[in-house]
Amino acid sequence: MTPAHSPESTHTPHSLLKKFWGYDDFLPLQETSVQAILAGQDSLTILPTGGGKSLCYQLPALLMSGTTIVISPLVALMKDQVDTLLGLEISAAYLNSTLNASQQRDTIERFLQGDYRLLYVAPERLEAAGFMDTLREGDVAAFIVDEAHCISQWGHDFRPAYRALQKLKAAFPNKGIHAYTATATPTVQDDICTALSLRNPNRMVGDFTRPNLLYRVQYRSDTLKQVCQVIDRHPNEAGIVYCISRKDVDQLSKSLQGKGHRVLPYHAGLSDQVRATNQAAFSNEQADIIVATVAFGMGIDRSNVRYVIHTAIPKSIEHYQQEAGRAGRDRLPAECILLYSGADVVKWRDIMKQSDTAGSDEIQKLALSKLFEMSNYCQRILCRHRFLVEYFGQPFLKPSCGHCDCCLGEYEVMEGGEVIAQKILSCVFRTRQKFGAQHVAQVLQGADTEKIRQFQHQELSTYGLLSEFDRKNIVRWIEQLVHENFLEKEAEYGSLRLTPTGIQLLKEGGTVSLAQPIVQKASKASKKGKAPVEAMEDWSDEAQALFEALRRLRRQIATEKRVPPYIIFSDVTLKEMVRLRPVNLSDFGELRGVGETKRQELGPRFIELIDGFQAGESGF
Ligand code: ADP
Ligand code: ZN
Repeated sequence: MTPAHSPESTHTPHSLLKKFWGYDDFLPLQETSVQAILAGQDSLTILPTGGGKSLCYQLPALLMSGTTIVISPLVALMKDQVDTLLGLEISAAYLNSTLNASQQRDTIERFLQGDYRLLYVAPERLEAAGFMDTLREGDVAAFIVDEAHCISQWGHDFRPAYRALQKLKAAFPNKGIHAYTATATPTVQDDICTALSLRNPNRMVGDFTRPNLLYRVQYRSDTLKQVCQVIDRHPNEAGIVYCISRKDVDQLSKSLQGKGHRVLPYHAGLSDQVRATNQAAFSNEQADIIVATVAFGMGIDRSNVRYVIHTAIPKSIEHYQQEAGRAGRDRLPAECILLYSGADVVKWRDIMKQSDTAGSDEIQKLALSKLFEMSNYCQRILCRHRFLVEYFGQPFLKPSCGHCDCCLGEYEVMEGGEVIAQKILSCVFRTRQKFGAQHVAQVLQGADTEKIRQFQHQELSTYGLLSEFDRKNIVRWIEQLVHENFLEKEAEYGSLRLTPTGIQLLKEGGTVSLAQPIVQKASKASKKGKAPVEAMEDWSDEAQALFEALRRLRRQIATEKRVPPYIIFSDVTLKEMVRLRPVNLSDFGELRGVGETKRQELGPRFIELIDGFQAGESGF
């Protein structure tokens, strides 16, 4: 153990990175974030999921005297983080409601003695009488606020307990406060700095592109079939399937169980115990798939999730980014598929209206505009990576990402786009610029609805002008025209209006390209059983067998130590073993993710397995 009172003074951040974590280089921004903590300068670090936030504050904790206090809202994650640290022989503990009174007293006592490098605490704890005094009696190195967006009213995950943190700066004016989060628009970032009273903070915003994720949006036609297509591309791999309602979760998980998949449900209607068991089974790799409502995931740290499927749209881009972002935390390729239908928006609007926590008009309005953005994401034919990165206030500099359905050419440009566009614009004009995309599309399609009859839109010259096309395509084109600035959408009800460019196109013509999905191509790709992109590695059967054997050993060790497998080694490290096949401890130590402790403690068992495998021993 490395207790708090003997900082690793002869070490540099770099040497500790190798010694404890087994990495040769820092990931982007990790080093500057570490330096801010060491310099005692307040900071806000925004890095995407998988960006390596925990290391940013765990590493400097080894170089400072005193205990680094980490405030984290996620009880389950605290235990994981502490287990991970203990596995690296870094002294750490947590204080939360899962400990009984005597365990809590013990932990506080050891903190006061300076036994811990890191102490994780729940935000509620800071509200408890006397806890601030306890902190003052001990030796605090710095404060870390994890999931810092929880402090912002404008964030998507506001937590009242985080308000207690507003007093932190006044109570400890000489201690650095360092905030971390994965999701923050510029407004939320400002909010975090103000709420925590950060002094001249060093604000570090990482690159939000997650190049290992492949994003794809599909119109929902047959949920079970579409979900199975994705699952079949990932046999024995981990995935999360999100549904809006509990009922959908129950149904879908039963159907998937019926098809022989190792799948479990997760939602707020299940008992605490069932939820905990199911979550643990997923973490421990006893289940491959979790079908869940949004209630699932905050405490999930399994890093080798290979796909996330949304069977309906989430209520905001922030939610989507966070939920889909649970794929590929290990930075290996993973897929994020979103199935949508216009009905999802209506469903969410109903849920929002009924919710008791609906709040003020202003909050309602914000929620609706976030929902519109989310539906925009689905409707537009625009690089998904670009959309997400720009949403979070960053420029996207590449012309194409190569990792989304739009950039991979899964859509084709329609012939005669200009004429179609003119028909749409003309219909918007004839309906007096008072209606939304669905209604305009229905008029163009020549549908018979009550609303059309009510406004006598069947009399219009544009009625039925695009009857040969599918309504979802017409809606998609309307969204593209909004995106290309030929139309604009009124924020609250989404009614469409022509822009000056739109009027010009209508009168004088011009160039417009409209796209639609290439249906054949997508289904051909799925028949081959592979994503229509490279990405997923093409390994030989022999390599695959070794990987599976290593996974089994990892699971066995995890069971012995009572921790989840990813705490032992990540998939990245196992794959390095398959590639490099180390047969001595010194080569083993060179693998990414193998630090000194793990090399000595776990190296021999993995080497023995690799050696035996190479020699063709039976049992594999
Ligand atoms: P976040 O909390 O930002 O989502 P994590 O702290 O879970 O990210 O780290 C994501 C993954 O990246 C983990 O598997 C971690 O071990 C790995 N990682 C962290 N720092 C480095 C590094 N410097 N080099 C390589 N991998 C790293
Ligand atoms: Zn793209």
